[in-house]
Amino acid sequence: MPPVTTARLFTLGPVEMDNDTLRLGSTRLPYFRTSDFADVMLEIESMTKALIGTDAASRLAILAASGTGAMEAAVISTFTRLDKVLVVEGGDFGRRFGQICRVHGIPYEPLHLAFGEELTLDHIQKYDAKGFTGMLVNIHETSTGQLYNIDLIRSFCQANQILLVIDAIGSFLADYYHMDNFKADVTILSSQKGLGLPPGLSLVVANHSTCEKRIFPNSPTSFYFALSRYFTDMLRGQTPFTPAQSIVYQLHDKLRRITQAGVESYIHHSAMLASDLRSRLTCLPLVVPEYNLSNALTPVICEKAYDIFLRLKEEHDMYVNPAGGDFKEVLLRIGHLGNLTVDDNRSLVEALQIVMTS
Ligand SMILES: *Cc1c(COP(=O)(O)O)cnc(C)c1O
Repeated sequence: MPPVTTARLFTLGPVEMDNDTLRLGSTRLPYFRTSDFADVMLEIESMTKALIGTDAASRLAILAASGTGAMEAAVISTFTRLDKVLVVEGGDFGRRFGQICRVHGIPYEPLHLAFGEELTLDHIQKYDAKGFTGMLVNIHETSTGQLYNIDLIRSFCQANQILLVIDAIGSFLADYYHMDNFKADVTILSSQKGLGLPPGLSLVVANHSTCEKRIFPNSPTSFYFALSRYFTDMLRGQTPFTPAQSIVYQLHDKLRRITQAGVESYIHHSAMLASDLRSRLTCLPLVVPEYNLSNALTPVICEKAYDIFLRLKEEHDMYVNPAGGDFKEVLLRIGHLGNLTVDDNRSLVEALQIVMTS
């Protein structure tokens, strides 16, 4: 048994799960190579496509992997050593895309952004007509909170006629997302962020032309992460390997509820929590960066950030998200995903007041 926790999570995965999801996580599992299970999978497929805004001809792969597994699967199934990919490296997750390209010998160039630097037309214009064939971007770079300007990215990709792969893991259900309107060819999602499920399941959606021209003809050097088998098996509601079965049921239930309530109500809830928290924070000795922010989280720059993280955990039973590497002592991220309320924000700010002034 994991330790029974009473702590409130303001983290960016896992997030606070709701009671329906928690209850489903404790149920017994049936065998899954059946038409009953296939029906669940096929409903997941159609609901996912509708919720992320892509047409029925797009394909879905459901992986038993954390989000990085889906990033790797998407990159190696879509691109080859003959490509040249532009990677927006504005933080840890952008760098991860670069690392994946490097490991697999896929030529890429990083579009580097310093901390606090906003992606602008000036940055992106430099790469016009330079022979790029694809672009990789985490539309919300969750390590900094920056939500990139999709208009810039879409125009660049359309003008250069290149493939656009969007990691929407940190953004889906917190910010507006529409795969087809965004002109994204591939979308990557994961269970433990906006969907509010346990970690361990991730999704890749690719549009029809990318499947036909790229993913099916490709032979990536990975057995487990080659997407074509997932897409083919999904036609009959199955996966090539054992699925993360309990999360599949939790996903099915959650997608039904999102479909019923409307995706806008989830986005609205995160946006409301974000603006509520940001207005409460003005009384504290910290700075919220100026770049365009996702509703998924609020980054705060303050002194002794890691110390604050530890004291919130030890003294107040609350987890905010510490930063890694160079930013450990100066940056915290406060999440607005999952089953959180304005009351949670109020309690957190009260705790922050105590911790930051004593
Ligand atoms: C959380 C996250 C991921 C996935 O990370 P894992 O730890 O592998 O689940 C990928 N991209 C972004 C933008 C994320 O926020």
